[in-house]
Amino acid sequence: MTAIADRIGKLRSRFEELKIDAILVTDDENRRYLSGFVGTAGYLFITQNGAVLATDSRYTEQAGDQAPDYRVDRITGRLEWLPALAAEFGVKRLGFEADNVTVHLLERFKAANSESENGAKGFELVPTTGVPLGLRAFKDADELALLQRSIDIADHAFSAVAETIRVGDKEEEIAWRIEVAVREQGAESLSFPTIVGSGPNAALPHHRAGERKVREGEPIVIDMGARYRGYCSDLTRTVVVGEPDEQFKKVYDTVLAAQLTAIESVEAGMTGAEADNLARTVINEAGYGELFGHSLGHGIGLEVHEAPWVASRVEDKLEDGMTFTIEPGIYISGWGGVRIEDIVVLENGRARVLSHAPKSET
Ligand code: ZN
Ligand code: ZN
Repeated sequence: MTAIADRIGKLRSRFEELKIDAILVTDDENRRYLSGFVGTAGYLFITQNGAVLATDSRYTEQAGDQAPDYRVDRITGRLEWLPALAAEFGVKRLGFEADNVTVHLLERFKAANSESENGAKGFELVPTTGVPLGLRAFKDADELALLQRSIDIADHAFSAVAETIRVGDKEEEIAWRIEVAVREQGAESLSFPTIVGSGPNAALPHHRAGERKVREGEPIVIDMGARYRGYCSDLTRTVVVGEPDEQFKKVYDTVLAAQLTAIESVEAGMTGAEADNLARTVINEAGYGELFGHSLGHGIGLEVHEAPWVASRVEDKLEDGMTFTIEPGIYISGWGGVRIEDIVVLENGRARVLSHAPKSET
């Protein structure tokens, strides 16, 4: 069975509990995950025994090549094909992605439905949330290989650029060198705009990269990622040019201890909150608890941030096959901050680290 057929099978196995006969997939990444089609317009209409990819004339040829598990139907902007497909496959209850469909599109689905068969509604629209996303939290072998490549690209790009950072370099110059290195390593793009936060800017977890020039001895937080055949990496390292101050050493050692503790101790079956607490406890005990303001990590794959969520108050369990980041940080307003981020996969109940960029202090 192909990876795509396996994914479709897993999706279908959820129809009964969701009380649906079919699902209409509209989200770009879910469509790609379930079909292999990378175009940015189109619908998947998946029933227990049918799979149709409905897209417009710009994409039908590409869809035929990329999604051999699907019948490709050419559609126009009008939605008369939707009640026609429901009638063809005998669909009475059609699930849709309530976390993706706009109110406007839902109104159009409803209008198309009531216009069919002289005003008689052909099917019922059933809102669903997180259904393909729940499958995507578990990576199959094909996905893990692509994700590893994306991670390796980011690791190599970071290592190459880190050696070149000098006092007086602007943050945005460093970010550009990272972007060039990521593309030269074979990535299709960055997975998100690179963060280079130097000195006080390192205290802002989502600072981008600006005109500030790097100074000696201060922390520089670099958070970056590559996108390779759809799969995103996400890597953070904190470096210093020259000799770091005493505060840096203490903060860095605490963040590193928290990160390594979480990597060594996280287990399948823990909730997101329990995993988050592994690192948070180390930071609390060092007296920096208030300064770790974000969550420990997030799932990663076709999107930089996806399920599972590794954060306080998350009761969903982490399970074998899931990939996620472990990225504690400490941020001190006016001084700077330290964050260290790796990607792990849970295998045989424990974390295997997929990121290999060095974690030395400079
Ligand atoms: Zn990151
Ligand atoms: Zn991250």
